[in-house]
Amino acid sequence: MFNAILLERPEAGFSASLARLDDSQLPVGDVTVRIDYSTLNYKDGLAISNSSPVVRKWPMVPGVDFAGTVEASDHPDWQAGDKVILNGWGVGETHWGGLAQKARVQGQWLVALPEAFSSWQAMAIGTAGYTAMLCVQALEKHGITPLRGPVLVTGANGGVGSVAIILLAKLGYQVVASTGRLGETEHLKALGAAEVIDRASLSAPGKPLGKERWAAAVDTVGSHTLANVCAGLRYGGVVAACGLAQGMDFPGSVAPFILRAITLAGIDSVMAPLAVRSSAWERLAQELDTEKLQAITREVSLAEALTVAPQILAGQVRGRVVVDVNR
Ligand code: NDP
Repeated sequence: MFNAILLERPEAGFSASLARLDDSQLPVGDVTVRIDYSTLNYKDGLAISNSSPVVRKWPMVPGVDFAGTVEASDHPDWQAGDKVILNGWGVGETHWGGLAQKARVQGQWLVALPEAFSSWQAMAIGTAGYTAMLCVQALEKHGITPLRGPVLVTGANGGVGSVAIILLAKLGYQVVASTGRLGETEHLKALGAAEVIDRASLSAPGKPLGKERWAAAVDTVGSHTLANVCAGLRYGGVVAACGLAQGMDFPGSVAPFILRAITLAGIDSVMAPLAVRSSAWERLAQELDTEKLQAITREVSLAEALTVAPQILAGQVRGRVVVDVNR
């Protein structure tokens, strides 16, 4: 038997609760993992609050991430005792996920826990942090270097945004953080932001082209913010677009694309091939300041995760949340 958060959608309506489940109920898979820690991402907030059709199979154990130890394996790459992490692949959406003491998954979805990190640190990073690294790597792939000029990070106090600031500052970029929580200015500067701006200056409908301000951007917000970010990029600028905290729409203009040769780089963490994931995790192991990671992370129990999940959607959570599934 093991503890899990269980999402159900019976005739009576949606429910999210703590449940005690039997190992025989675990889904089909060739590796069984005893989970140490999971985390709460924006998508987990959506799933646990039933705010968006994230869950596509019922009942569901949510949690798009976990870190733990292989208990049993029929997969050639993994043996009992191996330390592993999992991010995405539809886990927590179509396949039981990480907000549980146990999971059974496909071996090809797993990545070895990098030696640089403990299970706790890997989940402090989680999908949000790994996505932040995918964004940074996308900017680099498109030729952005610190010499090109400032880099904007939107949703700065969120999980992706906070890790992106830490990484970009470490790599020598001048980081401009956009936030709705200006009270957190000193915190964002401690993470490495050189300048903090009010997100209200980006969130309303804007002009097709604005003043050329940033060489590049990591956008976690979407909607008018993404359109305004594009309009404010310098000639040849790049935006790594990964999020939709403001909205899924993109009410923009082609003007910055055809007059300033900007690039919109789409980022997906869920179905990213293994080589892309491994490269992001290796880079995180090299570049991420773990003291700053600790400073943006708090830990909650499995039961507390039920309460914190809706707070993520309300923009009330700062940084990252690790879930200790064993308490
Ligand atoms: P968080 O909830 O931790 O952060 C989102 C941040 O966005 C908030 O902290 C807030 O920052 C800002 N925000 C919230 N609501 C609004 C709004 N209405 N308008 C403008 N800004 C807003 O989420 P994550 O960092 O985990 O994820 C960020 C986004 O990236 C989400 O949309 C998520 O779905 C997406 N994502 C995508 C992935 C992919 O593979 N493409 C992977 C991971 C995440 P502040 O208070 O500083 O303004």
